[in-house]
Amino acid sequence: MEFDTIAAISTPIGEGAIGIVRLSGEKAIEIADRVFRSPSGKKLQDVPSHTIHYGYIFDTKEERKIEEVMVTVMRKPRTFTREDVVEINCHGGLLATNRVLELVLSNGARLAEPGEFTKRAFLNGRIDLSQAEAVMDLIRAKTDRAMNVALGQLEGRLSRLIKKLRQEILEVLAQVEVNIDYPEYDDVEEMTHQMMLQKAEYVKKEIEKLLATARQGKILREGLKTAIVGRPNVGKSSLLNSLVHENKAIVTDIPGTTRDVIEEFVNVRGVPLKLIDTAGIRETEDVVEKIGVEKSRKMLKEADLVLFLLNYNEELTEEDRGLFQAIRDAEAVIIVNKIDLPQKIDMEEVRRLADGKKVIPVSVKEEKGMEELEEAIASMYFSGEIGMDETAFVTNARHIALLKKALESVEDVLKGIDQKMPIDMIQIDMTKTWETLGEIIGESVQDELLDQLFSQFCLGK
Ligand code: GDP
Ligand code: ZN
Repeated sequence: MEFDTIAAISTPIGEGAIGIVRLSGEKAIEIADRVFRSPSGKKLQDVPSHTIHYGYIFDTKEERKIEEVMVTVMRKPRTFTREDVVEINCHGGLLATNRVLELVLSNGARLAEPGEFTKRAFLNGRIDLSQAEAVMDLIRAKTDRAMNVALGQLEGRLSRLIKKLRQEILEVLAQVEVNIDYPEYDDVEEMTHQMMLQKAEYVKKEIEKLLATARQGKILREGLKTAIVGRPNVGKSSLLNSLVHENKAIVTDIPGTTRDVIEEFVNVRGVPLKLIDTAGIRETEDVVEKIGVEKSRKMLKEADLVLFLLNYNEELTEEDRGLFQAIRDAEAVIIVNKIDLPQKIDMEEVRRLADGKKVIPVSVKEEKGMEELEEAIASMYFSGEIGMDETAFVTNARHIALLKKALESVEDVLKGIDQKMPIDMIQIDMTKTWETLGEIIGESVQDELLDQLFSQFCLGK
């Protein structure tokens, strides 16, 4: 396939200072030659593939040097997009990088759409669909852990798992085919059902395992929706500020002054929290405050995690007890704030109401207990240091939908076996499972199944 030549700024991960203008396409090297000047006068079209060259980007119209650069020339097919690729490394910051990009664009390249390099890599067969999506996730990854998951997917962890499952399904389909055409035993029907049953149960279990990682995957990708609740003045905004290390929420001494719901994103030991500060849940006549309260209730329902604050310096109120009731079924941490002040709260009652939930005494003001709090949050979501390195996390909405669909059809297989349906009916559902799994990695060509069946058939018998 041939496409036009695209260009965009791509900054490598972890190297913020350097800007790279990347070109990909048939005319990548030609266009680069129009703007590049080497001190020795050499042309990029003459240099060997995968080599780096020093020189200047030169604006021929204005007859002036724009930027000192290092240019990498990579000829197809050994490139990310499987097209000719030129990377212009600019050291002069974003402004200079932008000027280089503009110059490249005015010399025949087209500005790449977001993800277009990756799309080409997929279209040119360099990577499969789940890997392509992993690249997108990588760009959006919010914490190191999320980055690792995306990287893992990029390395093809999920793809490998899916491929293995599909291979297993193919084998049983081929075997069933053989059994039907060359029945060696009288009870061939019973035998094939038995084989299908085993395989279907195995595939079902594996798909379920993958789907179980989806929640964790979602957390890593989108952040854990975290609601900070408590009655006015317990220190919600202060806690939020302390967690964010910024001062975006308004902190005042007047109860109930946090009017709006503020969202913040923080990284607590690898757990991305999407923090939501609330105006406190309480009955009130104040209209402005009421909006906040209604939002708070709604948020409590939507939250993945609730941080519930109490005041160490005050006795428990009916409002506090009501909140304990409201968060009963939520994943929550009870935070007893202001331990720098004299104790007035009954900690025994707090522990009783907490009903097994973690109770962490802190002083946000004096930064006491914050370590313990972060530890508690992290341990809730990464208990026992989940094998981040080996697990294939499913984080992508499309993958999740397809896995659910595959699960349905493999359940149909099991139902069919249970109801002693004819084997060719069961085969249809099993094939559907195989196809749906294939969609995850962008393979669902019926011909492949036929080829595989045929080759196995010949080998087996
Ligand atoms: P909110 O209404 O729940 O958001 O509470 P704020 O965060 O606005 O805090 C209310 C007041 O309590 C402010 O004056 C804070 O400075 C104060 N405060 C917050 N945390 C602590 C703490 O740990 N110790 C003490 N002594 N005061 C605190
Ligand atoms: Zn507040």
